[in-house]
Amino acid sequence: MHRVVITDCLEPPALIEEATLDGLATIDCLQAKSIDGLRGNLADADAIILYHEVTLPNDILEECKQCQVIVRGGVGYDNVDIQAAGERGIMVCNVPDYGVDEVADHAIGSMLALVRGFVIADRRLRKSTTLLPWDRNDIGPVRRLSQTTLGLIGCGRIGSATALRAKALKLRVLVYDPYLRPGTEKVLGVERVELDDLLKQSDVVSLHTPLTEETHHLINADRLAQMKSDAYLINTSRGAVIDTAALARSLQAGHLSGAAIDVLEEEPPNPSDPLVALWQSDPDPLINLMITPHTAYFSNAGLAEIREKSSAEIARVLRGEQPYNVVNQEWLR
Ligand code: NAD
Repeated sequence: MHRVVITDCLEPPALIEEATLDGLATIDCLQAKSIDGLRGNLADADAIILYHEVTLPNDILEECKQCQVIVRGGVGYDNVDIQAAGERGIMVCNVPDYGVDEVADHAIGSMLALVRGFVIADRRLRKSTTLLPWDRNDIGPVRRLSQTTLGLIGCGRIGSATALRAKALKLRVLVYDPYLRPGTEKVLGVERVELDDLLKQSDVVSLHTPLTEETHHLINADRLAQMKSDAYLINTSRGAVIDTAALARSLQAGHLSGAAIDVLEEEPPNPSDPLVALWQSDPDPLINLMITPHTAYFSNAGLAEIREKSSAEIARVLRGEQPYNVVNQEWLR
């Protein structure tokens, strides 16, 4: 019988995993909060499921004497040393598609909240002691969606899902993605443009790229200055794609009309981050700024899908079959 270890987050019993592994392995939930909770517990693990509360650096991987595969229950795998794992012959896989619908829904929901002034109207009303006057004129530039242009930076899984939703809401959709397969824009019915044009023409800009050297601070002070002065910015990708200090300055100067941010460079947030400080300061006049705690992916169905897909990937490896989503192929020995 094999042994599967779930390092963090999940409390026993692991019913979804047990059902998927179907007698192939025993399952231990370590519920570790730090590396100390992992030490001494991984030597005889044949497979590991890793969430986001702990990391698997090289010195912990050294303890994994018989591990064949590590599955990161999620998309990003920056909390495991994939090169060191590969060099030890351990495959690392992820679950790239579980939250596509949820994140696209979150991006569209954020756009509606910003454009329709939900947050600003709610806050303004709450501040009023009398609930009067019912001031309808001061909730920002409320646009008709069918006369709104949405610019998507990154048009992979989530960007495409967001584009399809936006088209159903009658928006004009622009995309910038230098790696997009030619013709994808025709399949989606969107317009492919260069970044400068997207920034100049869009009323709402939504980010859907991975975090790479190229996309780090892609949206900086210069790019923010290129955006329309009454535009909105949405980020559900990775925090460091935006220079958040520059965004805070832009919002304070009234250059942008608002922003919805699901991901920050530091999570949980650092209160001294200028954007977080601005958001917490409750300024007058109010700024149309929403921050959500990296919850764009979240839904009960999505969580069940991660668990089912993570354990199915492990079952394939333990049965000697090829897993679907290996992310460290180049280092595998
Ligand atoms: P994906 O790989 O399917 O798509 C990313 C797209 O970005 C690709 O088409 C790629 O060509 C494009 N791209 C790469 N470099 C670019 C650049 N310099 N400029 C413009 N486009 C570029 O990824 P995905 O599954 O759609 O995920 C998109 C982002 O969402 C990732 O950053 C991911 O980590 C993030 N994400 C966030 C949550 C959340 O809860 N907030 C959940 C899941 C994923």
